[in-house]
Amino acid sequence: MIPKQQETSTSDLMLPNAEGYFGPYGGQAIPPHLKSIMDEIYHAYLAIRETPAYQQELQELYQHYVGRPSPIYFARRLSAACGGAKIYFKREDLNHTGAHKINHALGEALLAKHMGKTKVIAETGAGQHGVAMATACALVGLPCEIHMGAIDIAKEHPNVTKMKILGARLISVDRGTQTLKDAVDSAFDEYMQDPEQFFYAIGSVVGPHPFPMMVRDFQMIIGREAREQFPAMTGKLPDYVAACVGGGSNAMGIFSGFLDDHQVQLIGVEPLGRGVAKGEHAATLTYGQPGTMHGFHSYMLQDAEGEPEPVYSIASGLDYPSVGPHHSYLKDLGRAQYVAMDDQACLDAFMQLSRLEGIIPALESAHAVAWAMQKAAELDEQQTILVNLSGRGDKDADFVAEQLQL
Ligand SMILES: *Cc1c(COP(=O)(O)O)cnc(C)c1O
Repeated sequence: MIPKQQETSTSDLMLPNAEGYFGPYGGQAIPPHLKSIMDEIYHAYLAIRETPAYQQELQELYQHYVGRPSPIYFARRLSAACGGAKIYFKREDLNHTGAHKINHALGEALLAKHMGKTKVIAETGAGQHGVAMATACALVGLPCEIHMGAIDIAKEHPNVTKMKILGARLISVDRGTQTLKDAVDSAFDEYMQDPEQFFYAIGSVVGPHPFPMMVRDFQMIIGREAREQFPAMTGKLPDYVAACVGGGSNAMGIFSGFLDDHQVQLIGVEPLGRGVAKGEHAATLTYGQPGTMHGFHSYMLQDAEGEPEPVYSIASGLDYPSVGPHHSYLKDLGRAQYVAMDDQACLDAFMQLSRLEGIIPALESAHAVAWAMQKAAELDEQQTILVNLSGRGDKDADFVAEQLQL
């Protein structure tokens, strides 16, 4: 018997409260002036999301523009190679622009348009959020400015070119580590020039309230679809649902469909990079402590002074020293477990999935694939693992070929 899906909005786990807290995490650690602007966005969002015009526009775009619903695929040869549980993929890599990020980019761009904002500002790591926002802004007709670390610009060249073609203004960030965290700081500084007119489109379930909730809501489509598709395909719920965790949006998207199904184990896979011994990783929930940065309270990789530590992952989209507050809460409650896979395991999974299934995954997604491959071997073939394949690896192909000297 397949348990009927609960209305997820009624779940106790589907916070936040009115102040933006998921248990002790989240909130708005920002100056009062900005707080009132965030509250304005929150109330505009609550009002606009109820209107048929907004809902219909978004649903139509998901269907006809993004290509939703994304399929679920049984990876027969990969499962056989691992020897054990059956591995399935939720194919967010097949979305227009190649990842789950288009789901929230469209939601945010439409919201900005409905609120009458004049410019959308965003930061980007691997360039995926930048491309998704540039795409969504081209579609709704809003100017778009993307801040990206200089190191990431060099590494993710195809995405940089796409953003330019799509008409976005690209800002190269040369400060600090020249990666995601500094891109966030830079985008935030620009936003503060005129927060009434500008819209800061955060790229994951992070930042001050209401962003962790809003971005999660836009990504919930993944979980809603999967919760219907998987039982229809296999006759039961998956035993495990796994997703990679950078900020945590693709994981929150798929987890949210299964939060009330307590027999389904939810696994978030963080990047272990070159390992803990070297201190070169970004496994925030695995090794971090609660702290505050970028306007919200959550687990965080920090030094003795509470400043964010430099982080590293082979996947640019995962190297962030904090994480979505909802994940921190799910970790403390024990509703989700968080594990970490290193660069080497990620590269192995990248190659195995490519050669056994003809699917080249994003390096981010390959972390979740790596965990699933390891776990599958411990289970029997009656058991199933559903992995959210958050994106495709076109952007990483040259980089991996160089690493492996192909
Ligand atoms: C950005 C990105 C991620 C990481 O972001 P989350 O908010 O943790 O989902 C994962 N996979 C892909 C393909 C991405 O582009």
